[in-house]
Amino acid sequence: MERIKMGPIELSRVIQGYWRLTSWDWSPEKLADHMNTCVENGVTTFDTAAVYGGGECERQMGKALAFDPTLRSRIELVTKVGIVPKGENAAFSHYNTTYDHVMRACRDCLERLGTDYVDLLLIHREDPCLDPAECGRALKDLQAEGLIRAYGVSNFDPWKFQALNQATGQSLVTNQIECSPLCFEHFDSGMMDLLTGTGIHPMIWSPLAGGRLFTGSDEACVKVRAVLKELAEQYGTTESAIVYAWLAYHPVKALPICGSNRIDRLLEAVRGVEIRLEHVDWYRVYTASGQKVLR
Ligand code: NAP
Repeated sequence: MERIKMGPIELSRVIQGYWRLTSWDWSPEKLADHMNTCVENGVTTFDTAAVYGGGECERQMGKALAFDPTLRSRIELVTKVGIVPKGENAAFSHYNTTYDHVMRACRDCLERLGTDYVDLLLIHREDPCLDPAECGRALKDLQAEGLIRAYGVSNFDPWKFQALNQATGQSLVTNQIECSPLCFEHFDSGMMDLLTGTGIHPMIWSPLAGGRLFTGSDEACVKVRAVLKELAEQYGTTESAIVYAWLAYHPVKALPICGSNRIDRLLEAVRGVEIRLEHVDWYRVYTASGQKVLR
């Protein structure tokens, strides 16, 4: 498995995501076993967030890391802060990227994960009330304290990305964004061009559109599946491997996050990023849903 250098850290090209973990009903032993199988297949990076399962996702990962204490030094942990869901501490769901909140939220993540540091901390969403200087100071202080090895953002538009990047001395190592043959938001916003031009590699969430690509009955899904089927036959592989090959082909050098709990599906991602598409075939997938028309 290829490894991608991102500032001071290195991540596996394919990442395992645990957003859906709390619905899998796994014991700490089963989760530790899953993490070990991922590592054996070269997937050493795991994605979570403070809000996943109301903190339960990080807690379950912490229990798995305690079950097998050898795991922590062999993996990279990515988590996210900055969303405050409605509940005990908030009457209304909102974002909070202030200095105090980011500092406290990161420490809470570490406690739930049962670890002294995370490899990568992301600001989860594009807070419209973001103060780049204040948020940037928190990220830098957390890094200086050794609580995080690197930092970045998620779902940011190019303007907020540039503002925070400037405030941190160009130290953001990624923007974790949605992208799939059904989702082109970050092509349209110019984010992909900004990242490609600055040599910053995005992490890609919902690469299979959360499974909708294969289960959706709407016209766009049906059209994409037909093109993926043809390409899968042409390349002697599976439809989802073609999606991962499509994501890997782009010069931005993205790191897709697989959200399945099945190792066979993770291995399709691992194989997929190794497939080199013909240049023309990248455009077949890009235009497959009918949302994109080349002029
Ligand atoms: P995904 O890989 O697009 O979707 C995974 C879902 O698709 C699973 O429910 C999986 O079911 C299903 N699936 C996969 N292959 C399938 C097939 N051939 N047929 C039918 N269903 C299939 O990714 P995701 O889970 O939406 O997102 C991946 C990760 O990105 C998350 O775990 C999280 O870490 C991260 N994320 C980040 C953000 C953010 O705002 N930064 C937002 C969302 C997600 P099985 O488990 O049964 O295979």
